[in-house]
Amino acid sequence: MSTSQTPVQYVPAKPAKSIKLVDESQAKTNLLGMTQAQLAEYFKSIGEKAFRSTQVIRWIYQQGVTDFEQMTNLSKSLRDKLSANACVIPPKVIHRQYSDDGTRKWVFEVTGGSLVETVLIPADDSKLNGRKTLCISSQVGCALDCSFCSTGKQGFERDLTAAEILGQLWVANASYMTDENDSLDNVDHSLWANNVTNVVMMGMGEPLLNYRPVVSSMELMLSDHAYGLSKRRVTLSTSGVVPKMYELAKELDVALAISLHAPNDELRNELVPINKKYPLEQLMAAARNYVFDVNPRHKKHVTIEYVMLDGVNDSNEHAEQLVTLLGDLPSKINLIPFNPFPHADYDKSSNNRIHAFSNILIDAGFVCTIRQTRGDDIDAACGQLVGRVADRTRRSAAWQQSIKDRENS
Ligand code: SF4
Repeated sequence: MSTSQTPVQYVPAKPAKSIKLVDESQAKTNLLGMTQAQLAEYFKSIGEKAFRSTQVIRWIYQQGVTDFEQMTNLSKSLRDKLSANACVIPPKVIHRQYSDDGTRKWVFEVTGGSLVETVLIPADDSKLNGRKTLCISSQVGCALDCSFCSTGKQGFERDLTAAEILGQLWVANASYMTDENDSLDNVDHSLWANNVTNVVMMGMGEPLLNYRPVVSSMELMLSDHAYGLSKRRVTLSTSGVVPKMYELAKELDVALAISLHAPNDELRNELVPINKKYPLEQLMAAARNYVFDVNPRHKKHVTIEYVMLDGVNDSNEHAEQLVTLLGDLPSKINLIPFNPFPHADYDKSSNNRIHAFSNILIDAGFVCTIRQTRGDDIDAACGQLVGRVADRTRRSAAWQQSIKDRENS
């Protein structure tokens, strides 16, 4: 469902001079994405006090400073030591697209040449007070092969590091401090503001299959010394890696979303193949554990994501099965109109069908929303995160052309 017909601005990225790009020959330690504990260990390992970790974290995430020389509350000798041995390097932006509806998409080249995408979606509701949600990728491709997902069609390449995961957030915030040439050279870092208000681990990949870097990154999103986002504004979305859901429940308190997409095992085995390993009974038990058992004082709910596929999972009967499946699990259901991509096997459900499905859930007492598609002029809408870009031939051609254009400009 297209909500924006406005023309897209295609803006090949020009790396800002003040952002250092990856130089593997330097073999320096990248401090981006290190948790406070990891950074404290690092400082101890170079003969410095652990409390330096707090100072450096604040510089990186609250003022956007990546150049140690600008970290003025560090001694000159420490700044020199860090410059010689460490770096703060976000992933390299090779392409960016900004939609007129405020949606932004970046294509990053990570170490080894793989490409990942990140999308920032602003709320179009003024009541939501400037909410800007960043959809972050956790892996290059995905091994889980959900049948309706363009990322799944790519296959799995590799896990992202914490620097590559958190770097997506760093770059998204930095994008509001750049001028039209993407230069950060003239930015007054004391005026730095983190504009991204919400993060969803819902981009490319299954975050719970890249557990440690994802959890480290979310720790920094929550840390008051780094991004200080509220735990309700950081959401991890899983297709149902059940053992890791229990582990996460013990370790970190963030919002949980489940990519459900089907109300019975037979259909879910087809749409979300990991269901064969962890069927719905186990998945629902893990969801209940997350909501009820770990910290019952916190009022939590699970967000249920359900992509609406025409004639596949969108009947009244499916809605009724979903009501039964969720039972008394505090749930907010988010119906996602399918965004077809090249070679997709499915079509999107009609608006009437989606509303009929939604009404059954609402009548049963659930909060149910229908996701508004945003940024579809730049392939950033849900399910299009890779979208046409997943066509690698076309992607390579388009990006190579944009890189040539940039070099010639
Ligand atoms: S829906 Fe999520 S888990 Fe499934 S293939 Fe796509 S990225 Fe992977």
